[in-house]
Amino acid sequence: MSARETAADAIVIGAGLAGSALAFELQKRGLTVIVLEALSAHALAASGNPAGIWMPHATAQLTSTTQFYLRSLRELLSDPLLAECRLPQRQNGAIQLAHSPASEKRLRSALEYLPSDLARWCSAAELSAIAGTHMACGGLFFPQAGMLYPRRLTELRLQGPRINVIYEQIVHSARWQPDAKTWRLGCQNGKHYESRYVLLAQASAVRSISAAAWLPVIPVRGQLLYLQAGQALTELNCPVSYEGYISPCLPPSAERFQSPGDAAVCQVIGATFEHWNTRTELIPAQHQRLYEMARRTLPALPKANVETNPGRVSFRSSSPDRFLLAGRLPHLESLQTSLDQNPHQMHAWLQRWPRVQAWPQTGISLAHASRGILTSGLTARLVVADLLDEQLSPADQQYLAAGQPTRYLQRNLRRHGKLLPVE
Ligand SMILES: Cc1cc2nc3c(=O)[nH]c(=O)nc-3n(C[C@H](O)[C@H](O)[C@H](O)COP(=O)(O)OP(=O)(O)OC[C@H]3O[C@@H](n4cnc5c(N)ncnc54)[C@H](O)[C@@H]3O)c2cc1C
Repeated sequence: MSARETAADAIVIGAGLAGSALAFELQKRGLTVIVLEALSAHALAASGNPAGIWMPHATAQLTSTTQFYLRSLRELLSDPLLAECRLPQRQNGAIQLAHSPASEKRLRSALEYLPSDLARWCSAAELSAIAGTHMACGGLFFPQAGMLYPRRLTELRLQGPRINVIYEQIVHSARWQPDAKTWRLGCQNGKHYESRYVLLAQASAVRSISAAAWLPVIPVRGQLLYLQAGQALTELNCPVSYEGYISPCLPPSAERFQSPGDAAVCQVIGATFEHWNTRTELIPAQHQRLYEMARRTLPALPKANVETNPGRVSFRSSSPDRFLLAGRLPHLESLQTSLDQNPHQMHAWLQRWPRVQAWPQTGISLAHASRGILTSGLTARLVVADLLDEQLSPADQQYLAAGQPTRYLQRNLRRHGKLLPVE
């Protein structure tokens, strides 16, 4: 391999939505980028679903994380790539149903802070008119939300003369070389790569890198049910979210953006949400449960046995508070040494975290959970700007602070008096 193939200004690990967005931001600033991907193509893991929803996150109160989602939505809407990967729907927008009294209370509270161009309350009759099929209850309509092809967005972000994606490279070590001030990455096939910057976007697999082994990243299994031609609810105009979600029918052109080898899909019903379940095969009973859940919301779906239908299993990476992990990678050992030598520092640390004690020239974009379409772009912009010491606006600093993994170290210190609780 030539030097161009094994060295670059920056290496990104993982060619999913998160890694591709980081590569895009780095190359935009003139850096050469190598993306190392374990599998044989981009977006074959969580980012390989045939279609995914983006919509505002309607929480009861406006928190720093909700603000992050709103900012992410604004940036996604102004991203020129969106037009090239959005699913053509008969009706713009997406519906979120108030499927229980608790969800109605939450959605109505969210209306107090959601801008009127992004959300409005609709009765069941109004939603039925928008959706083109009978809706069992009212809820929110998001006129600027929709669905897109995640593999296509990933592919578009990875295009560019300064990005070199190398497949079938399972990175298993990352060593900081202090004299050269570079990172040396080792792959299972014996190959090595070097760069000034390293960015971790390999989702739950990040814990196999020793510097990141402490990160609280949790795999969450998700099973999708595919309805095939003849079963699909063809009249549905736009995606509907309830306890699960259903897409409108995908056009035949959608096949181009699917993962190679995936079964033909006409309509997608999703998704299960199981922490720590690592089963990779489809579970027939879960297919049926997903279908029955959809039928309670959309009575026009006929009674059917879908247990043997095709589908897809993949794993989101999440964190205990379900919010993403982004920014610098804290250097646990040096933080611990510093705390051991100056125990009185603990109080100051609980107020404000010292950002100097991080691994040099390293960024992370992880744990995007069920919202990577929305969050991967803003996260990448902030992580790369911070890494390259660009001036961030006060608002951007706050968005970045919301995702810092140091929040878990602070919680541990508060609860256990230690950076890491004894497992
Ligand atoms: C069932 C399901 C439904 C979803 N629906 C939606 C939705 O409707 N809307 C939405 O916004 N989000 C949705 N999501 C979430 C979204 O798909 C994720 O947030 C997003 O794909 C995460 O992107 P990622 O790049 O972090 O992870 P991934 O796409 O998993 O990418 C990580 C990459 O790292 C690679 N990798 C792993 N280990 C290594 C290694 N050692 N060396 C090199 N490469 C490695 C993997 O092969 C993979 O390509 C859904 C997720 C699931 C599972």
